[in-house]
Amino acid sequence: MSQVPPPSILIVDDDPVAVRALAHIVGGIARLRFAANGGDALRLAHDSPPDLVLLDAQMEGMSGFDVCRALKADARLAPAPVLFVTSSSGPEFELQGFEAGAADFIAKPVVPALVLARVRAQLRAKAMADQLRTTASTDMLTGLANRHAFDLALDEEWRRVRRRGTPLSLLLLDVDHFKLYNDRHGHPAGDEGLRQVAGTLAESLHRPSDRAFRYGGEEFAMLLPETARPGALRVAERVVAAVATRRIAHAASPTAPHVTVSVGVGCFDDACEGWRPPSADSRLGELGAPARAADLVAAADRALYEAKRAGRARTSLQAVVAADAP
Ligand code: GH3
Ligand code: MG
Ligand code: MG
Repeated sequence: MSQVPPPSILIVDDDPVAVRALAHIVGGIARLRFAANGGDALRLAHDSPPDLVLLDAQMEGMSGFDVCRALKADARLAPAPVLFVTSSSGPEFELQGFEAGAADFIAKPVVPALVLARVRAQLRAKAMADQLRTTASTDMLTGLANRHAFDLALDEEWRRVRRRGTPLSLLLLDVDHFKLYNDRHGHPAGDEGLRQVAGTLAESLHRPSDRAFRYGGEEFAMLLPETARPGALRVAERVVAAVATRRIAHAASPTAPHVTVSVGVGCFDDACEGWRPPSADSRLGELGAPARAADLVAAADRALYEAKRAGRARTSLQAVVAADAP
């Protein structure tokens, strides 16, 4: 069995004595990192999201409440429970803390057994929530990220496109004549075929930011951030070749004696009609072109249809045309 790494705790306090005391108490059950102010805490958290934060409420500069609010506003950091370690108390103070997103409070001077009990309880809850999140975003048949995860990832990547003016490509892949495959080889073999195709896609990802998803049925998606059309076409061609090279027997296919895929490539890059880089005066630094994420999906879908029509087992490309293109 693979070893589960110990959880990671971020201890934030501007008093070195308090930091040492807390480190001594929880050092045996977690990996620890330390910050003496809010700015450093947020930087460390961004570098690698912790599983739990022990946070001093009263610090010079950025207060613990401010740090907590900043953590909760970031989707990657929000899942970590925040425990305020504080010498203040009272309903008013605690209410303020809960409103900022606190999970619980630990009173100073700290009682080691109580700190451990509270931290353990929060880490258990975090681990359970992590597992639920993973299950909710994973396709059970193939182990790839599922459609729900795709929708979230596309939304996030599209916002990056608009903020930074970086290109984004989307590959939609559809297994050719897969109904015939099920009819000839049986549904369980069909399931196994889909697993093999999924495995091939996962192996075709070369950059850490590239992701593969099961889009639905025998359709898959690959999201390639910061990738313009030449790069996206290369990945698409590579996937088409990699699936064919697996030689998964498909006796009933009119296209080839083995399983093949068709790929539609949708691109939004600086060669698109209506593309404008984000300008200093555009509101919120957003891209001028009012194209939408749905337009990228539509472009990939049109390209996929074209690849099918042109004979399957191939790649086709469609760029997004921004709505206000001249
Ligand atoms: P085309 O080349 O035009 O894409 O033809 P196709 O037969 O692949 O397309 P169609 O959409 O008609 O059929 C898709 C088939 O994929 C039908 C369905 O039974 C099969 N399929 C979808 N999901 C699964 C699954 O989870 N397991 C199995 N075994 N088959 C599935
Ligand atoms: Mg299909
Ligand atoms: Mg198909």
